[in-house]
Amino acid sequence: MKTSELIKRYRITDGSKFHLKQSDPGDTHGWKSELKKEASVHLEKSIKRLAELQDKLYAQDQHALLLIFQAMDAAGKDGTIKHVMSGINPQGCQVYSFKSPSTEELDHDYLWRSLKALPQRGHIGIFNRSYYEEVLVVRVHPEVLAKQKVPKALLGKKLWDQRFEDINAIETYLTRNGTTVLKFFLHVSKKEQKRRFLERLNDPAKNWKFSTADAEERKHFDEYMDAYEDAIRRTASQRAPWYVVPADNKWFTRLVVSAVITRALEDMNLAYPTVDDKKRGELKTVKRALENE
Ligand code: ATP
Ligand code: MG
Repeated sequence: MKTSELIKRYRITDGSKFHLKQSDPGDTHGWKSELKKEASVHLEKSIKRLAELQDKLYAQDQHALLLIFQAMDAAGKDGTIKHVMSGINPQGCQVYSFKSPSTEELDHDYLWRSLKALPQRGHIGIFNRSYYEEVLVVRVHPEVLAKQKVPKALLGKKLWDQRFEDINAIETYLTRNGTTVLKFFLHVSKKEQKRRFLERLNDPAKNWKFSTADAEERKHFDEYMDAYEDAIRRTASQRAPWYVVPADNKWFTRLVVSAVITRALEDMNLAYPTVDDKKRGELKTVKRALENE
């Protein structure tokens, strides 16, 4: 199987042609579950490669990688992050889970908390939810917007257009400064979400994963899908593409996500820093001194 096909298949770089209805959450690009074993071999390989690439990313200390994960509850964000990043050196990677904003965060503009959490050069930053919530949950629930303390005069009809514009601008800015931005929407179906909710309710070991708020949000599933579609349409670009990843089969989701991340790092042409003649001379002197100790 060619992973390049997977990457291309789910990548959206031109939002104007995107329709969420045309993406099937159950799609596995023809892979049947019998091939799960083979898929897991692929995944293991990809995870290993990712670790090698991260080591170079860190050593070179020039590029940064920002991975944004957005999804409905139970789509598998946490599990995907856990599996795909399992070979990564924690020293060069930070995960931020964005929850409902705190009082302090509400006292600032909506991008403030995200800007503080951006990955430094050489690092991978993972946003488990992100500033995209500002055009998703905030759009689905007007009462959330009301709490944001934005001056009323600024809450006009153009609000969402303006937020998309801001988001595109910030992503352009980031990519122009050496941060690669990849955005993943883990696309789970309403039916599969129900199955996973019931699993969480039925299995005492999974009870902790369920909150009654999840069931509340499920009632707005279709509104969320509209908001996601619009967000992807308005913010997918060559610079900062969206990946709409089928999420009804966890093994497949992980395969696609790891392929995309590995490719992005390969495309950076990373290399370990080399030392100049002066430094090489110094190293030789130290080596000699150590040997003669
Ligand atoms: P899990 O359920 O696996 O722990 P989660 O990401 O769903 O992961 P929760 O604590 O359940 O975490 O939910 C976080 C909630 O915070 C989500 O409902 C999300 O919509 C909300 N949230 C995140 N960012 C914002 C924001 N900027 N404004 C309002 N709500 C937000
Ligand atoms: Mg949740």
